[in-house]
Amino acid sequence: MTCFECGQGSLVSGVTDLVGERNGESFVVRMEGLKCDRCGFQTIDSGQSSEFTRLVSDGYREKHGLLKGSEIRARRSRLGMTQQRFSEYLGAGVASVKRWESGQIQDKAMDELIRLKTDPLAARENLRALEGQVPQKYVLSALVVEGKDIELTLNIGPYFESHPVMRMDSVFLAGDLIDNACGMAA
Ligand SMILES: [Zn+2]
Repeated sequence: MTCFECGQGSLVSGVTDLVGERNGESFVVRMEGLKCDRCGFQTIDSGQSSEFTRLVSDGYREKHGLLKGSEIRARRSRLGMTQQRFSEYLGAGVASVKRWESGQIQDKAMDELIRLKTDPLAARENLRALEGQVPQKYVLSALVVEGKDIELTLNIGPYFESHPVMRMDSVFLAGDLIDNACGMAA
């Protein structure tokens, strides 16, 4: 095939470094393509364009910490799910699952969901972070008696234990303190 850049050389198969763009960013991908033996011009034929698209997407995903298409497919396979079943599992459309695996970029929120639903470690890490976000006790009411802060609290830490038991002792204790404090004030 004659090079359509210089019009003199021939385009021959070989390893090429091509620049692709995704979401306004450029990525260089190395793949089998066509190279001019005279001017060095590089391109791909139409049969190689889906591979090119996939590689550019993966470049973007790698840079932005998103799962690559092959990684999503591998996670789905590990769970023994078809694309249809996997899409139901995620609450997404099956067309989306197909597109992610072949190169379309999933958004950050969906990437997070895929990790949480396919990786036990990520799920466990998320649970730990969530528990760290939950306050151990809630202040139901607070008052100041004779310069002392009195808080009526409810301990909700046990709610996240495997056998949830709501302990009320802290509430009763605080209640006693309030009774005594009121007695003294009267
Ligand atoms: Zn050329």
